[in-house]
Amino acid sequence: MRIVITGAAGFLGSHLCDHLLADGHEVIGMDNFITGSPDNIAHLANNEKFSFYKRDVSNYIFVPGKVDAILHFASPASPNPQSKSGYFNLPIQTMKAGALGTHNCLGIARVHSAKFLLASTSEIYGDPEVHPQEESYPGNVDPIGTRAVYDEAKRFAESLTMAYHRFHNVDTRIVRIFNTYGPRLDLEDGRALPNMIKQALLGEPLTVYGDGSQTRSFCYVDDLVDGIIKLLYSDEHYPVNIGNPNEMSILQFAETINKVTGNTAGITYMDARSARDPQRRRPDITRAKNILNWEPKVSLEEGLRRSIPYFKQKLGIA
Ligand code: NAD
Ligand code: UDP
Repeated sequence: MRIVITGAAGFLGSHLCDHLLADGHEVIGMDNFITGSPDNIAHLANNEKFSFYKRDVSNYIFVPGKVDAILHFASPASPNPQSKSGYFNLPIQTMKAGALGTHNCLGIARVHSAKFLLASTSEIYGDPEVHPQEESYPGNVDPIGTRAVYDEAKRFAESLTMAYHRFHNVDTRIVRIFNTYGPRLDLEDGRALPNMIKQALLGEPLTVYGDGSQTRSFCYVDDLVDGIIKLLYSDEHYPVNIGNPNEMSILQFAETINKVTGNTAGITYMDARSARDPQRRRPDITRAKNILNWEPKVSLEEGLRRSIPYFKQKLGIA
């Protein structure tokens, strides 16, 4: 296939480029580097099956030649209010990437009769009242809450995707991605894993926001990409959760990072990030298991060991 990936210079987009090129496809990357980096795709510069366009996908986009599939991953994704690349500080760009960017990408899929895959998120469930979250749960989101620019943009993107599927017969897929980690996560974007790995590798105490009892479940990037590619190759049009169901408190997560890195500086408790920080999050992956025959294979400790060399290199630690 000839596949367009928006957000190609980001964490997940760049891994998707690698895996789809390895599967023999031709890949066209697009990105405006608002939160991503050319470093993430520098290794593809001489790959003749890879080409790159610097574009803001919220504006009209044109792709020359045929297109068989378009994967829309372009969006700020970090919920950290302190980070320049977090969506709190890029609210309009975030809403435009989810709304106008999704519209433009669906337009490309329609005109080329191509498959379209939307990178949606567990955030569409908001601060969930049911646990674990299965795809039929409609979510608990405040449209004017502090996370709304991201959550509602993704919810709109899902609605638009289903509208193009139902009214224009576009061959669409929706993946609801849960917390994912691995090499190429931006060390400065403030998400839990890069923040804490950086602190651990520098021998500093790990910052836990609130009392650390809020839960998440972390998926290693190779597992996630494997699930997304299986979804792309499937015929499933309804949303599918992809994530690791191994739920743990953020405190347990921090303790695991200290253990794997050998950091003895312990933990510092800080104010909770916001009242809207979801308290519990774990994917129900029954649909992914049944429809895609997919489940994650990499344990947290193994995933951390695979990630640490990248973060050490970025920090200039031998
Ligand atoms: P990232 O910030 O590393 O990557 C996003 C990329 O999109 C960046 O390279 C950025 O420059 C680019 N981008 C943003 N707006 C753009 C625009 N208007 N035009 C062109 N490029 C633009 O984040 P990520 O973690 O790789 O997330 C990728 C996608 O996956 C996002 O859509 C995000 O919502 C979704 N997602 C990620 C996670 C996760 O745990 N990483 C979880 C749920 C959903
Ligand atoms: N968190 C933390 N310390 C940090 C960064 C994050 O305790 O240095 C917490 C954060 O409050 C949230 C969880 O870790 O409860 C996961 O945060 P992340 O930014 O990775 O993404 P989220 O799951 O909130 O979208």
